[in-house]
Amino acid sequence: MKNIERHQYDVVVIGAGGAGLRAAIEARLAGKKTAVISKSLFGKAHTVMAEGGAAAAMGNVNSNDSWRVHFRDTMRGGKFLNNVRMAELHAQEAPQRIWELETYGALFDRTKDGKISQRNFGGHEYPRLAHVGDRTGLELIRTLQQKIVSLQQEDFAATGSYDARLKVFDETTITELLRDGERIAGAFGYRRETGEFLLFETPAVVLATGGIGKSYKVTSNSWEYTGDGHALAMRAGGTLINMEFVQFHPTGMVWPPSVKGILVTESVRGDGGVLTNKDGKRFMFDYVPAVFRNYYAETPEEADGWYEDPDNHRRPPELLPRDEVARAINSEVKAGRGSPAGGVFLDVSGRLSAEVIRKKLPSMYHQFKELADVDITAQPMEVGPTCHYVMGGIEVEADSAAAVGEVEGLFAAGEVAGGMHGSNRLGGNSLSDLLVFGKRAGEHAAAYADNFPLSGGPGGRSQRPKVAEAEVTAAMDAALAPLSREGGENPYTLQQDLQDVMNSLVGIIRRKGELTDALGRLAELRERVAKVGAAGGRQYNPGWHLALDLRNMLVVSECIARAALTRDESRGGHTREDFPEMDPSWRRVNLVCALTADGGVSLAQQPVPELPPELAGLFDRDELAKYYTEEELPPAASGSD
Ligand code: FAD
Repeated sequence: MKNIERHQYDVVVIGAGGAGLRAAIEARLAGKKTAVISKSLFGKAHTVMAEGGAAAAMGNVNSNDSWRVHFRDTMRGGKFLNNVRMAELHAQEAPQRIWELETYGALFDRTKDGKISQRNFGGHEYPRLAHVGDRTGLELIRTLQQKIVSLQQEDFAATGSYDARLKVFDETTITELLRDGERIAGAFGYRRETGEFLLFETPAVVLATGGIGKSYKVTSNSWEYTGDGHALAMRAGGTLINMEFVQFHPTGMVWPPSVKGILVTESVRGDGGVLTNKDGKRFMFDYVPAVFRNYYAETPEEADGWYEDPDNHRRPPELLPRDEVARAINSEVKAGRGSPAGGVFLDVSGRLSAEVIRKKLPSMYHQFKELADVDITAQPMEVGPTCHYVMGGIEVEADSAAAVGEVEGLFAAGEVAGGMHGSNRLGGNSLSDLLVFGKRAGEHAAAYADNFPLSGGPGGRSQRPKVAEAEVTAAMDAALAPLSREGGENPYTLQQDLQDVMNSLVGIIRRKGELTDALGRLAELRERVAKVGAAGGRQYNPGWHLALDLRNMLVVSECIARAALTRDESRGGHTREDFPEMDPSWRRVNLVCALTADGGVSLAQQPVPELPPELAGLFDRDELAKYYTEEELPPAASGSD
């Protein structure tokens, strides 16, 4: 076939954020010819925007910390709907992954005695986030890129080519995965600048495409987060799990309108920021739910004491998990106690000196100064909830990161993968998640590719899966369709309509009637998206790119809305006004979303795997009783009542 650039690789990693880079490094270290593809410029991914830090129980600041405490916090944060094995692996392996980054050249902030410093964050019992000021993600990406360059230099020395075993294709969007039967055979996409098509023939694909935030109007996510990996996996035979759980970060900027949604890092609260309403009331004390009551302070005095003496005080309620804080802010604003721009106030100036604020929170200082003309060393910020992260994602096997479903050779890691965080992710657990499971995905993709050696030869399980030319033609035709459609609908109008539906009907507080309405509107949008058109040609044409992204945004949005309508309870990132309580019988259910033959989505209920006894033993029976049905609870100790 003409006009297609063709490449052959052992492993193709789609996404160059932390998960993708870590997977690519691992696949290359396993000797595999590896490609890394990114939709945006190399180095520009959400990972680079991560501010607060990476959670890992290294115990550097409080030696009481351990992987077991981290596991417990993660399960509590996720309201016990987490994939237990993922949460266990994550807590166990995160410290190794952070120390390993140091060997790649990362420079974390230090404690006085020279260890990697760790900061407090919501839902973490001890200071646990390894950080670099409020620019941790930048250091993480810089380090992983540096490791890639060093591997490429080794390859140059061995082969005379830097790209011989590890090549980066940036500004390249993958629009389709291609299969041979149920096996992955390749990935098809285009170069954003020229519109030229590329085909990667490969038996193993790692999806590391990040989140879905652009389906919402107010979001901390940037333009490329259109749920591509989620949709690619579904079209290739994979499934999505628990998509109803969308994290609305409590603190996004609310003013000026042009920057609404941009993130205000949780470190502001971790480092002592307090939330107040328009009456100056520190309202979070009114919103501590029963399941957390024993762990959080009841008065400002007790909360303030925790910063100096955490062993003898309970934590401030500003550090509750994100879902709790976001709902509390939402309620204050709704009750008419919000700030002038429709948020609440977040003030760190009362606790920290101007010098310390500028040192600990430099990005926040500049962000508010430059975008809102607010000096956070002297004035409060105005903040409100913003769509930030999706806990749901591609259903994977915990140990191997392999996608579950009718597909072989597909792996997923980082935000695009589901399960690890249950119904709500704790801050800092994403950077550690993407390191732990990025490594695992790269390792297992490489092992799988061993079955299909590039050079053929003995030892291979069988021949490499083959890409059918008809599939390539179909992928190309689908990509070109919006350009040839006369009078097609404007992609920007469609995106706006989709974002309006999701923000207003499938947002932070959900109701049955609105969700039903949303599904009706999404069905209409599906028909309209099928007729999307883009003016102009293939050379750098953002309208065309968006036209292609829309079908991904749509299918992901349908999964979110359908699962949100089905789950008749409130848990973590899913709040139903008509079912305000957590229901233990729903804790036993995962909602799994798959594509139907007509391009719509279907939902199935699957049982949540049980908590193994050795992990259940980390919790008091009384605590488990808040989440579990009576029949699931371990027997009460004899003699107790
Ligand atoms: P990303 O880093 O999002 O990378 C995705 C990659 O996939 C990109 O390279 C993108 O171009 C590429 N891609 C997408 N679609 C395609 C396609 N079709 N074809 C080719 N490439 C594609 N988490 C924490 O733990 N701690 C924090 O302090 C923290 N702060 C955050 C601050 C902000 C402002 C934001 C937005 C998020 C923050 N998070 C934080 C969350 C965390 O940064 C992300 O969840 C995480 O970085 C996701 O990493 P990833 O590797 O899965 O994907």
